[in-house]
Amino acid sequence: MVIEQQPPIPEDEDTLKFVEFDKPEDDSFSLPAWRLLIVDDEPDVHHVTKFALNHTTILGQPLEFLHAYSAAEARQILEREKDIAVILLDVVMESENAGLELVKVIRTELKQTEIRIILRTGQAGDAPEIEAIHDYDINDYKTKSELTRTKLYAAVTAAIRAFSQIRSLNVLAFTDLFSGLANRNRFIQLIDERLETEPGREMSIAVVDLDDFSEINDALGHQQGDHLIKAVADRLVSHFPQGTVVARLSGDTFGIMGEPATVKPEALLELFNTPFPIMEAEMSVTASIGIVPHGEIEGNAQNALKDAYIALKQAKKTHRGSFVLFSSEMGTEIRERIRLLRNLRAAVESERLFVVFQPQIHLQSHQVVGMEALVRWRDSEGNFIPPDRFIPLAEASGLIIDIGDWVLRSACHELRRLQDMGLSGLRMSVNVSQIQFREAAFLTRLKSALADSGIDHACLELEITESVAMEDVNFIRLTLNKIKALGISVAIDDFGTGYSSLSHLRLLPVDRLKIDRAFVNELSSDVEGGHFAAMVVELGRNLNLTVIAEGVECEKQADLLRSMGCHEAQGFHYARPMQPPQLVEWLQANRLQYGDHVPATSIQSQGPRNSQ
Ligand code: C2E
Ligand code: CA
Ligand code: CA
Repeated sequence: MVIEQQPPIPEDEDTLKFVEFDKPEDDSFSLPAWRLLIVDDEPDVHHVTKFALNHTTILGQPLEFLHAYSAAEARQILEREKDIAVILLDVVMESENAGLELVKVIRTELKQTEIRIILRTGQAGDAPEIEAIHDYDINDYKTKSELTRTKLYAAVTAAIRAFSQIRSLNVLAFTDLFSGLANRNRFIQLIDERLETEPGREMSIAVVDLDDFSEINDALGHQQGDHLIKAVADRLVSHFPQGTVVARLSGDTFGIMGEPATVKPEALLELFNTPFPIMEAEMSVTASIGIVPHGEIEGNAQNALKDAYIALKQAKKTHRGSFVLFSSEMGTEIRERIRLLRNLRAAVESERLFVVFQPQIHLQSHQVVGMEALVRWRDSEGNFIPPDRFIPLAEASGLIIDIGDWVLRSACHELRRLQDMGLSGLRMSVNVSQIQFREAAFLTRLKSALADSGIDHACLELEITESVAMEDVNFIRLTLNKIKALGISVAIDDFGTGYSSLSHLRLLPVDRLKIDRAFVNELSSDVEGGHFAAMVVELGRNLNLTVIAEGVECEKQADLLRSMGCHEAQGFHYARPMQPPQLVEWLQANRLQYGDHVPATSIQSQGPRNSQ
C-alpha cells in the first residue's frame, strides 16, 4: 500500500537533495496523517527533510510536519501537540547535548513513551552511548550524511511502524475490548494524570457494581449477562458529559471519575431505576456504589481506587442497592487491620505465638478428663491480643492454616510430654477453623502431627464450630469419617449459636456437643422456663453424645449443669487457660479428684491471669 502512492525512489543517493515531483494534494491526503516533528537548529535540514518526505505515504497515511529550531521550542510543541509519531532530532543544538537532554525530558518528564525518536548527528563521533539508546528508547540514530532519501524513508517507515504497534498494544492494554470503555489500568492512569496536571481541580471517584450479577448470569446465560453489561455501559456513557471518565474495571464493576457536581450518587442510582432494554425484553438490575468524595481523595489513583472499593464493600454489606461515601475513618480501620495482620505474620515467623491449656472436668466424678488448647499472641511490645481479634484476620488471610497446624502440633507434643511425665489418660482438644478443615492437605497434616508426637490417637479431639458442621453436610461428613477412622474424636463447638438441623446432626459422626458459654452464662440469672443448656443436654442424651459446658464460672452453674445431666465442664471456676509449667503443677494437684470445695479464687490464681 505504500508503494502505490509512492513515486519510485531513486536508489541510494548521497544527499538529501531531490527533484521535487508532482503529486496531487487532494484525495489521499485527507487521510489522518502521521505527525513528524523535525528538531534541528539548521533551517536547511528542515527544508531538505520535508522535501525528501513530502508527498509520500507511509502505511497508507500521509505525513504532516512540525518544526522546532531548538530543544526548548521542541519541548513547547511536545507539551502542546498530541499524537506525534516520530521525532527527527538533532543531537547538537543550543548545547552539545541539547538533543539527548530533550530525549530525557520526553521520556521521563513528559512521559511520552509512544513517540519514536530518530537521532541525527553531524558526525559519527557524536553518536549517543548504547546505554542512552536503550534507556531512553531511542529508535535509531543516523549521521546526517547517511540520510539519503532512501535511508530516511526506510528509517521513518520503521519508526512509524513501531509507533503504530506500540500504540495498538497500548490501546489493547488500556481498553476493555468488550465494552470499548477504558479499562482499570487506563482509569488509574487518567486519575493520576488529572491529579498531577490539575491538582486543584475537584473530582469524585465512584465504583459502581451490579447487584447479583452472577445470579443473573447463571439464570439467563452469559449472553444475556453480556448484553446487560453493554446496556449498563451505554447508559453510563450517555449520562455523563464529556470530561467524565467511565471505565469498566472488571466483570460487572464500573469506575467513574469526574466533577463532584456530575458524579453524584443519587443521580447514579437513578440510572438504575429504568430497566435496561435487552434484546426484545427489559431487565431490571440494581447497583451498589462506593464513592470517594473530593475531599477524601488522598495519595495517588491506586490509593483513591482502593478507598472507593472499601466504600463499595461497605455498601455491599450494609447498603445493597445504594451507596456509601468513603471517609478516612474507614481507611484507618482497614489500615489498622492490615497492620495487625502484618504483625501477626511476623509473630508467626518469629514464633511469638504460644499455646495455653484449659482443663476440663468430669462433673460427676470430679476427675480431670482433658484440656483445650488455646492459642495466644503477645506482640513485640508485649501487648496481649485476644484470639477473637486475630483469628478472624488469620482466617481471612489464610494464615490460619499455618497457625492452626502449629497449634495442633504443639498441642500433640504437649500431650506427649504430659504422658511422659506420668500424666496420662488425658484428652487434648484442639480448635480447627473451617478454613483449615477445608484445606486439601488437612488430613495429611493431621496424620503427621499424630505420627511425629507419637500420641495415642484416641486422646486427640478436634473442635469444629457448629456453623462449620452444618455447612455442606456431605463434605463435612466425608471428612469427619476420615478423621474418625484415625481414631480421633470430634466435638461441636459453640453449640447453640448456629442453626443446627437435627436431621443433619444425626448424620454427623461426632462425639461431643460443647454448650456455648453464652448459655452457661444465663444459668446464673433466674430464667423462667427451661434453660437452653438443659435442652442441649437432653439432645445429647438422645443422640448418644457427651455434653460439655464451657465458660463455667461458679459453683452454682456447675451444680445446675450437673443436675441437668451435663457430663463435663470447663471454665474459670476450675482453671484459667495455663502455660505448660502451671498446667503441670495444676494437674499434679487436681488430676485425680478436682475438689469442688476448693475456693475458685485460689484455683484461678494458679493460672496466669494475664494470658487467659
Ligand atoms: P472457644 O473455642 O469457644 O474457646 C473458649 C474461650 O472461652 C476461650 O477464649 C477461653 O479462654 C474462654 N473461657 C474459658 N473459660 C471461661 C470462663 O469461665 N469464662 C469466660 N468468660 N471465658 C472463658 P479465648 O482463648 O479468648 O478464645 C476465643 C476463641 O478464639 C475460641 O473460642 C476459639 O474460637 C478461638 N481460638 C482460640 N484458640 C484457637 C486456635 O488455636 N485455633 C482456632 N481455630 N481458634 C482458636
Ligand atoms: Ca473451642
Ligand atoms: Ca465456644
